[in-house]
Amino acid sequence: MAGMVAAVIRNIVILTGAGISAESGVPTFRGPDGLWEGHRVEDVATPQAFRRDPVLVQRFYDARRAALVHVEPNPAHLALARLDREWTGDLLIVTQNVDDLHDRAAEPGHGRPARLVHMHGELKSALCGRCGATQPWDGDLTGADPCGCGGTLRPDIVWFGEMPYHMDRIDAAIAGCDLFVSIGTSGAVYPAAGFVDAARHAGARTLEINLEPSAGTQLFDEARHGPAGRLVPEWVDALLGG
Ligand code: NAD
Repeated sequence: MAGMVAAVIRNIVILTGAGISAESGVPTFRGPDGLWEGHRVEDVATPQAFRRDPVLVQRFYDARRAALVHVEPNPAHLALARLDREWTGDLLIVTQNVDDLHDRAAEPGHGRPARLVHMHGELKSALCGRCGATQPWDGDLTGADPCGCGGTLRPDIVWFGEMPYHMDRIDAAIAGCDLFVSIGTSGAVYPAAGFVDAARHAGARTLEINLEPSAGTQLFDEARHGPAGRLVPEWVDALLGG
């Protein structure tokens, strides 16, 4: 079965969400309480929230950024990094995550995976609210000097109501893929939640890997439910032929 699948699949798009980082110790977003680290989304992840209370929002993302030093990529991130190195067909890993665990899963010396895009931005990047320039960022943004243009630096995060990054590349990859895999995402945040539909229209086979059925689980040809840290390495091993 695995060999047959590998023989017909050439072009893969993988969508990942907060669930792939859960076993690394990064809390998901729609946990049992529906909050993100104790905050309502409207209070920390919208442009309106940043205008209303910039200090609260900067501190929230400063804490998320600082917490990254305490977490490591888990077997699911490592398996996708292996797939990126070894898959000879087209591949695009689209993450909704703002953590850097996919990036760090690449082997030392390989740099960040070339076939990875962060559609919702990155904690370790700062964005100028005036000129739109971005720069790598490690420390706190609270109290940071302004951008060279005089604009205020904000987290380089795509907030609700803003346009996700890399949509042209993502749309083109989905239109040309023959396998679409969704890993660790609740299927509640658009446009990512609509990718499975687009993939189906493109004629792709679709697979969900998630702890529990997502909101759109019935849209997938196949669903495997369980922890990503076990199911993703199993899937990658089978795809790469052992
Ligand atoms: P979500 O929190 O809405 O959904 C997470 C999904 O992962 C759930 O369906 C859950 O059942 C599943 N899950 C939990 N543990 C799992 C495991 N061990 N293995 C497999 N699946 C597991 O996440 P989302 O759909 O990505 O949407 C949240 C938004 O919030 C994203 O856009 C993202 O930008 C942001 N966010 C990012 C992070 C991060 O960067 N790690 C964390 C929280 C929120």
